[in-house]
Amino acid sequence: MNTVYLNGEYIPEDQAKISVFDRGFLFGDSVYEVIPFYQGVGFRLQEHIDRLNHSLRAVRISCEMDWAQILGDLVEKNGGGNLSVYLQITRGDAGKRSHVYDEGLQPTVFACCSEIKDIWQAGADDILPIKAMVMEDLRWHRCDIKSTCLLPNILVLQQANDEGVQEAILSRDDRLTEGSACNLFLVKRGVLFTPKRSSEILGGITRELILELADEYGIQYQEVDVDYDRLLAADEVWVSSSTRGIIPVIEVDGHQIGDGNKGPMWHKMFELFVTFQRKLMRGTK
Ligand code: PLP
Repeated sequence: MNTVYLNGEYIPEDQAKISVFDRGFLFGDSVYEVIPFYQGVGFRLQEHIDRLNHSLRAVRISCEMDWAQILGDLVEKNGGGNLSVYLQITRGDAGKRSHVYDEGLQPTVFACCSEIKDIWQAGADDILPIKAMVMEDLRWHRCDIKSTCLLPNILVLQQANDEGVQEAILSRDDRLTEGSACNLFLVKRGVLFTPKRSSEILGGITRELILELADEYGIQYQEVDVDYDRLLAADEVWVSSSTRGIIPVIEVDGHQIGDGNKGPMWHKMFELFVTFQRKLMRGTK
C-alpha cells in the first residue's frame, strides 16, 4: 500500500480523506505540482518549489512549508525509487459552499507518489515519437498558474486520443501556446523556436532546462510567436514535460513533420538532457 501525505501526516492511501466542503473539490480552488524523483533525487526540485510558490502567491493561498523535506520523506517512505510526486494545495475546507472565502482558512495539503520509468536511463531508441492535432486553447489567461482547473486540458487530450493521436497542441488567436500538459518546441534550419513565456503558457521546468542547455552548448534559439503554418513547415517538432522528458512529434493534423523521424537536433538535445540528468544523480549538478 502506498503512503500519502495529508495535512502533516504520512498515512496509507486508503485512510486519506478530505471534506466534501474542501474548496479544491468544490471549485478546483487549488494549485499543484508534479515532480519526478529518480532514485530518490528530485528533478529540479527547487525550480518546482519556486513555481509552486508563484502559483500559491498568484491565487492568494498562504502556505509556507518545508516542501523539500516533506516530499523527500514521502519518497523515502515509498521506497525511494523512480517516483512521480503529485503535490496539491487547496484553499481548504470552508464547511460550506460559497464562492467567497475567509482569509483564515487552513489549506489542505496532499501529496502522493506513483512509479515512473527513469526516462534518462533510456536510450534515444526507447523514446517513441508521437502524433498530435491542433485544437483551440479554451483555457483562461493565467496559464502560468499551475491550477487544478484542468477541464479544458482534459477535454482536448481526450479528443486527441479519441482521434488516434497522443497530444493536443493548443492555439489561441492563431498563436500556438503549448500542449495539453507540455511545452512546444520547433526546429527550423538548425534553430530552436518555442512560444514566448507569458501568462498564456506554463513556465515549464523542462522548457527552461532545454533553453539553458541550448545556451550552454551554443544551440541558437528564439522565443517567438508560432503560428500554424510555421508549425507544419518545421523540420522538427517536440513537446516537453518533467515526467515525459522531450518527445518528438512526427505528425500534426495528418501532415508529416520533417522526414517523419526523430530529428538530429532532438537527438542532440536528448543527449544533453541525459548527461544533465546523470550529473544530477551523481550530485554534481
Ligand atoms: N504545460 C502544461 C499545461 C503542463 O501541464 C505541463 C506539465 O504538467 C507543462 C507545460 C510542462 O511543464 P514541466 O516541464 O514543468 O513539467
